Amino acid sequence: MNKAYKYKIGIPRAMSYYNNYPFYLGFFNYLGIDVVLSDKTTTKIINEGSSYVVSDTCLPIKVYVGHVINLLDKGCEYIFVPSIQSTDYKINNCSKIRGLPEIIRNVVNRDFVMVEPTLDKTENIGLLDFCENIANNFGITDKKEIKKAIKLGFEYYNNFFAMTQSGVSYKKALENIENKKFELETQEVVKPLSVVIMGHGYNLFDERISLNIIKKLEQMDVKVYTSLNVSHKDSIDAIDNLGEIQYWANELELTGTAAYFLNNKKVDGIIALSAFGCGPDSLMVDEISYHCKEQNMPLIHLTIDEHTGEAGFITRLEAFVDMLMRKKRASLSKKSKPINAVEAVKNEEKEEILTSAVK
Ligand code: SF4
Repeated sequence: MNKAYKYKIGIPRAMSYYNNYPFYLGFFNYLGIDVVLSDKTTTKIINEGSSYVVSDTCLPIKVYVGHVINLLDKGCEYIFVPSIQSTDYKINNCSKIRGLPEIIRNVVNRDFVMVEPTLDKTENIGLLDFCENIANNFGITDKKEIKKAIKLGFEYYNNFFAMTQSGVSYKKALENIENKKFELETQEVVKPLSVVIMGHGYNLFDERISLNIIKKLEQMDVKVYTSLNVSHKDSIDAIDNLGEIQYWANELELTGTAAYFLNNKKVDGIIALSAFGCGPDSLMVDEISYHCKEQNMPLIHLTIDEHTGEAGFITRLEAFVDMLMRKKRASLSKKSKPINAVEAVKNEEKEEILTSAVK
């Protein structure tokens, strides 16, 4: 293909960027279309996006709008705004993700070309249709070339997941993809405590939205697992093993990931991170909470919006980690020395109080 970068496409560093950017990058690289990313999320981007939409819109959508404005301010003429309706038969996204191009069209009144492909497997609109639609915007119609671009997209995407599943961090794996490098983590890091965070990539890996939760936990000497450590098949199987059914397209990042670690008991606790007012997340977190109670697995649900203060957020996180540490110490001491029945009941009561205090 022509590698002259005749065209540029702006990709908002929000929503599907956090799941699919390696694929998008490989695809556009092959077609010779230069990719321009919006800046990392800042308070200014959040405020800008919030000013365009009604206040009860969820935070990730406000952030998305802010990133589109950021790209327009950088002079991008083409902006990528996909409509990802369903990722498998009747496995749907929420209405805001499905209607992303409509939201942008209705709130951003500026001149630009919106590249708005649709993926809707329920309606037989698959990845090839999605990619052809993108390429056609740039006058590229050769199906063979489009298929080769998809192949390179998958190569980048699979390499990215191979790295994260071996333990390479999200940030490092993405840097490697951009620099065409590949590395695997060979030694597993062992820490006194471990947790899994169930949350959408666009909340969790955006350091501003998540208030850098992964780094904060690591500074507390906690090992953190996320959806990037679980394969697609393992998360689907985990939902099945819990006796539940996948409904939402992005459910594997939440229910699937939490269920995987709940089933294998590899973590000491589960953190649910979701945007305030998100309907699908509240259903998924409720479902996992039920199973956590059954299996005595501590869970804390942290909700975020544009007003979330860092101090209160850290306090809740620290209280949860503290409770996990006490619970672990109590169970280790139970195993290592005999205690009488009265003490055992007292310890159980203490754990119960601590567990319910953070739920
Ligand atoms: S799933 Fe929730 S957070 Fe994500 S776009 Fe939909 S409503 Fe917003």
